Amino acid sequence: VLRIEGLNKSFGENYVLKDASLTLKRGELKVLIGPSGGGKSTLLQCMNFLIPPDTGRFWLNGQEVDPSDKKSLYSYRQKVGMIFQDFNLFDHLSAVENVRIALVKVLGMSKKDAMDRAMAELERVGMAGRANLYPAQLSGGQKQRVSIARALAMDPEVLLLDEPTSALDPELIGEVLTVIRDLSQAGMTMIMATHQITFSSQLADEFIFMQQGRIIEQGSPKELLAAGVESRTQEFCSKIN
Ligand code: ATP
Ligand code: MG
Repeated sequence: VLRIEGLNKSFGENYVLKDASLTLKRGELKVLIGPSGGGKSTLLQCMNFLIPPDTGRFWLNGQEVDPSDKKSLYSYRQKVGMIFQDFNLFDHLSAVENVRIALVKVLGMSKKDAMDRAMAELERVGMAGRANLYPAQLSGGQKQRVSIARALAMDPEVLLLDEPTSALDPELIGEVLTVIRDLSQAGMTMIMATHQITFSSQLADEFIFMQQGRIIEQGSPKELLAAGVESRTQEFCSKIN
């Protein structure tokens, strides 16, 4: 579905992404791990052009994205949804309005169709019963589920998730991971930065280990974490678990 080649990004003197390349196949879940400051968030944000990369080529469904062409960039961004650690909801809008607003403003849906669609997406993440509550009235796990519903409402082909559970209290992590597991099992293509190694190793098709802006290792959790295998990924995981 999505192929990226030769992604580089620096902030001033700080060379944050060094020649990162990766491919996401349809229905695949890849998990980005690695030490803090390694470039995971920057990579995900470049993948959605929230941060403009210095260099890099992108293909979605075989078609190359031309970042200088607004239309090409716009349609790409619509197909590549993003979930943030801190939810990024509008505090002055209810849950359903948070989901609905882009449907009206970006996709140009009628208010009624957008409402139906937003409710259906909230239903999918188990939040239909709280559609009229505001972010301040929701738990972290509930907020994150609303933010996932908002991304899904745009009908993305790929979801980028940047530590979707790391702002959550431990007892709330499970409900968000369950939604992510269900999405993956339903065939959504995803790449997720996370420290939830145990959960991810059960679900991920591949781990991508990043350090100092480079992709150091990629492979199935089995290959990288099997007993007897020596890998940087394994070394890292044994430290954080
Ligand atoms: P964490 O696990 O802590 O989330 P990360 O792997 O997501 O870390 P990034 O947030 O991508 O790491 O940061 C990589 C490097 O880029 C860090 O050195 C950081 O200081 C730098 N960096 C990130 N965003 C900016 C920015 N907007 N301006 C300047 N430097 C930045
Ligand atoms: Mg990060």
